[in-house]
Amino acid sequence: MPSSSDCMPPGAEMATGFVLNTGAKIPSVGLGTWQSDPSVVGEAVYAAVKAGYRHIDCASAYDNEKEVGLALKKLFEEGVVKREDLFITSQLWCGHHAPEDVPEALGDSLNDLQLEYLDLYLIQLPFRVKKGTNIGNAENYIPPDIPATWGAMEKLHDAGKARAIGVSNFSSKKLGDLLSVARIPAAVNQVECHPGWQQSKLHTFCQSTGVHLSAYSPLSSPGSKWMNGKVLKDPIVISVAEKLGKTPAQVALRWNIQMGHGVLPKSVSEERIKQNLDVNDWSIPDDLLAKFSEIKQCVQWHPTYKSGLGMSGGARFLPAKAPFSVFLHVSRLI
Ligand code: NAP
Repeated sequence: MPSSSDCMPPGAEMATGFVLNTGAKIPSVGLGTWQSDPSVVGEAVYAAVKAGYRHIDCASAYDNEKEVGLALKKLFEEGVVKREDLFITSQLWCGHHAPEDVPEALGDSLNDLQLEYLDLYLIQLPFRVKKGTNIGNAENYIPPDIPATWGAMEKLHDAGKARAIGVSNFSSKKLGDLLSVARIPAAVNQVECHPGWQQSKLHTFCQSTGVHLSAYSPLSSPGSKWMNGKVLKDPIVISVAEKLGKTPAQVALRWNIQMGHGVLPKSVSEERIKQNLDVNDWSIPDDLLAKFSEIKQCVQWHPTYKSGLGMSGGARFLPAKAPFSVFLHVSRLI
């Protein structure tokens, strides 16, 4: 595992954020909103911004962007923050990869969020389903054309609707393929990353290409039944937390930040929202950081192909009988 001093990308600022290849700064901690119920997500966003969060990670697929938008409107109206103080991310769903569908999808997110522009718009998944169909059914999958979708993303960037564009759930191979044809390089690759899934190879690739790695499920998503979810119970994480007088969640988040990765912890609890932001003014010393390389890395098994080798975060969203070509496509190997 690289040490913290090896990991900070050029321009990184340890305390509060990282500088993207666009020159914009992405806050080191953003509030995740996946699986935040629409009835409570607005309160979570409001509490987070009041507590000092400046980044909210959204997606049309989370079915709660309207409620996030209402909370943002209230924060602006009350003068808590101005639009330019915030960094708002949203994501293009895999049913909207057709170039003509990309502006419409961004427009829908902007309408729901009640914003004029996004700070970051991501292609959420490297695979594609037919428009209007879901990812739970193997027949819905069609071959992706990432260069064509990316071309439409570049136009949104040109138009100022997305100040940075990037991807999510992309392996090193897929990110490399994209960078080789992109007119505008991806600013961010948002992937699952935590002490139990450290993404060493992707980390090195992102650093060498100037793409910021943004860590989703940084607590290993303990509330999700199909995720690994065990990092907060890991003995090494717990022992480092006890030595530093921090919680396991804070130590898990801080590990990612010291690797040079932004983190997107989700919470709807005001107490945990505040706790998760308190990770910027202390650090894990090098001797304790070295212990993280001993943490066993999780393997995600695909039910049909009985393989865990090389599966990236995107693979977990595949249906049990996903076509083998799609399964291969989300594997880290290609
Ligand atoms: P996560 O942030 O790793 O974990 C969230 C879970 O941990 C929730 O059950 C939350 O419960 C709990 N929690 C939060 N803070 C805690 C603390 N301090 N101590 C103990 N438990 C705590 O998981 P995630 O939601 O999977 O990932 C975070 C965000 O990443 C998502 O919300 C989403 O924005 C993004 N994401 C993106 C993708 C993608 O495909 N691009 C995929 C997955 C996730 P409470 O809410 O009750 O606090």
